[in-house]
Amino acid sequence: MAKFIFITGGVVSSVGKGIVAASLGKILKGRGISVSIQKLDPYLNVDPGTMSPYQHGEVFVTKDGMETDLDLGHYERFIDTDLTSASCVTTGQVVSSVLQKERKGDFLGGTIQLIPHITNEIQQKIREAAEKSDAQVMVVEVGGTVGDIEGLPFLEAIRQMRKEGDTLYVHVTLLPYLSTTGELKTKPTQHSVNELRRIGIQPDIVALRSDFPVSSEVKEKVALFANVDSKAVIPLLTTPTIYEVPLTLEKEGVGDFIAQKLDLPPNEANLGYWRDMVERMKAPKPKVHIAIVGKYTELHDAYISLKEALKHAALCHNLEADIIWGSSDDLLGESNILDCVQGIVVPGGFGTRGVEGMILAARYAREKDVPYLGICLGMQAMVIEYGRKILKTEEVNSTEFSPHTPYPVVSLLEEQKGVKNKGGTMRLGSYPCRLVKGTRAFEAYGSEMTYERHRHRFEFNNDFRFLFEKEGLIMSGLSPDGELTEIVELRDHPFMVGTQFHPEFRSRPASPHPLFMSFIHKAKNTPCKVESDAYISGQR
Ligand code: GLN
Repeated sequence: MAKFIFITGGVVSSVGKGIVAASLGKILKGRGISVSIQKLDPYLNVDPGTMSPYQHGEVFVTKDGMETDLDLGHYERFIDTDLTSASCVTTGQVVSSVLQKERKGDFLGGTIQLIPHITNEIQQKIREAAEKSDAQVMVVEVGGTVGDIEGLPFLEAIRQMRKEGDTLYVHVTLLPYLSTTGELKTKPTQHSVNELRRIGIQPDIVALRSDFPVSSEVKEKVALFANVDSKAVIPLLTTPTIYEVPLTLEKEGVGDFIAQKLDLPPNEANLGYWRDMVERMKAPKPKVHIAIVGKYTELHDAYISLKEALKHAALCHNLEADIIWGSSDDLLGESNILDCVQGIVVPGGFGTRGVEGMILAARYAREKDVPYLGICLGMQAMVIEYGRKILKTEEVNSTEFSPHTPYPVVSLLEEQKGVKNKGGTMRLGSYPCRLVKGTRAFEAYGSEMTYERHRHRFEFNNDFRFLFEKEGLIMSGLSPDGELTEIVELRDHPFMVGTQFHPEFRSRPASPHPLFMSFIHKAKNTPCKVESDAYISGQR
């Protein structure tokens, strides 16, 4: 029977609950305890796959093909474990399974109510996730902020679980700083803990996110009002890198406190590698300047796994990834940011806006020999650009953007024809990819087979395969039956590689993704065309 740690948040959203959940997972794993993490999201969408990145940031894809909250990416990167669809639960899923049961007649004669039917379903999903992962400790993060109406059924469900056995409740809040008096204020935390207690949850640990050091007086005050042990009031100072948070928690004694409360073995946390890694991350290093040319670049969270994958690979080369955000809309204008970078990444995306800018970025990379990594839509942009060059017409396109193009070099996957519903119907999750010997992709992976995560409806159109290969675009990764093109690369270019899958979802700080490693390796040896920070300083 698993033990449960529940994480709630108070005062403001984006306080860092996801990182706290991931970090607790990390320190427990460091003590030799098996851990899994689950996110409960109080919105009515079944999953975030149908939401705009502006609403929700990145959509992270699990290997079993669920479109999930970006926090799952943090969890996987911190605990270095592949999670499954059981780790992402939304109100939409809970309500829909209760209603399906009602129609089947499972509750015949009963009135279906928030309590107990919805709350029981939530608890069942928590227990299922624990059973499926077989973890000793299940960390469960409740999305949203205490006080939101939407979150109440989840809070009620986790409250009821206290009586069942080993549970621990962590409340993460913010201490705002008032510059006029130079003080960190605890009142919002007090109110938030009161709100939690009104629902019936007494936190065991209160973590105080703060941009300034938290004095022992402030800690004592929170301990008094929140009715917790003063060693269970944990200051969470904003750190230069999120990967430092497990070390902060361990230093503050959280690991020992949890081990004692949940009756876990009192092992020493083995975080040696992680500690060295954080030291290396914080040490000054030469930079490698990489442009991300996408359509949601104003919101960096839309590309969070990509950003992390670039950082992981750069660190392995003892470099710091200096990311320059280039809106693919602006590239059509006067901007010259690409002159100032050593590598270009064009990430995934949907819909027509911004695509011509991505194609322009691919053209720039090809003509000027700048290393290029195209991911999903970025691979398709690379194919369209090359098609326009060899067929000598701007009419070459994907049927996603030009349904009647005479040259559909990218077209709908066969299995997608006839698919009407939008939610959860793409080609999703992990599929095998066979790597072709003698290619850059093969060299990067150093093996013949890999498994990568997908999220797309369109693909390279095989009608053009012969022509493209003849003209120097190599299909270097294929589905095992040879039918689907998974990786393309340009023969006469230092590094121009496009992947139909999303390699960024598999990059971990201790094991950067091989394609990112090769890309950074090429980029670091590529000089910027213009050695000036002037264009790009505002784009970081
Ligand atoms: N819109 C493209 C497709 O559906 C690319 C998807 C993506 O970049 N994830 O195939």
